[in-house]
Amino acid sequence: MTGDARSGKPDDWVKALRQGRVGPTDLRLLTIWSGMLIGGVLAGGIFPEVVRSDVIYRPHRMLDFRLTCICAGIMVALVAVGITYLTLYRMNRYLAWISQRDPLTGLYHHGCLTIFLERSIQDRLGTETPLSVMIADIDMFKEVNDGWGHLVGDQVLRYLAGSLRTVVGEKGLVFRMGGEEFAIVLPEMASAEAKSLAEFIRQTASNKEVGLLPAVTVSIGVASVSPDVRSATDLIKRADDAMYEAKRRGRNQVVEWSEISS
Ligand code: GH3
Ligand code: MG
Ligand code: MG
Repeated sequence: MTGDARSGKPDDWVKALRQGRVGPTDLRLLTIWSGMLIGGVLAGGIFPEVVRSDVIYRPHRMLDFRLTCICAGIMVALVAVGITYLTLYRMNRYLAWISQRDPLTGLYHHGCLTIFLERSIQDRLGTETPLSVMIADIDMFKEVNDGWGHLVGDQVLRYLAGSLRTVVGEKGLVFRMGGEEFAIVLPEMASAEAKSLAEFIRQTASNKEVGLLPAVTVSIGVASVSPDVRSATDLIKRADDAMYEAKRRGRNQVVEWSEISS
């Protein structure tokens, strides 16, 4: 029949259509034939039959169309699910980040210090593993703000935070306690090593005059765990007391808690 339909004889073509002997390829020709028939003398008699909906209906094309729609729908749904998942994942990460970090310096904030230190102390209970803490406070920081402005003060805080993070590296974690005060937790570091690291930090901080930023000095208190330290608060208080002793002694120095406890 395909030969007949393509031979250019409308009668054979229409007959083939009526008898349902038109295959997918022939049906493609239907459009061409329809166009020719509309303008031809046979249009009145043949065309209405040719364009009957049951004849024009092309099941293979409908199937293709439906399959295309389903595939496109599935792809759109997959892309939408992917985008939603990625957005939620990023939002969760961001929320986790801002819930733990100080926005000015990017360091962990005070709340994390207590949790982290408490866990470290509980983990080492009954063992000989050392653990040290430092509290570093910028000296006369109010004068920096008063003399240079709050924005420069902020830059000093950011710069010092970055230096602390670089110097401490993998040895421990740096926290911003609040204001111009920082805490450094040094798991597995004994008091002697912690004190020499504190001295290095003090020298690094006080020798720097970066760009237009004013030079500052820091006072640092160091405390290490001993059998009578039972909680994070105990250890933080010892380091804090040592830091205030450094302030009393004239600032810009390191004091270890054991020096003032006896
Ligand atoms: P000391 O040597 O006794 O520690 O003196 P200090 O001036 O450093 O201490 P004080 O507690 O008198 O002042 C702390 C100052 O730190 C006052 C406050 O405005 C400033 N400060 C606290 N947080 C921020 C901050 O986020 N940005 C800036 N720029 N300043 C801050
Ligand atoms: Mg201060
Ligand atoms: Mg302070």
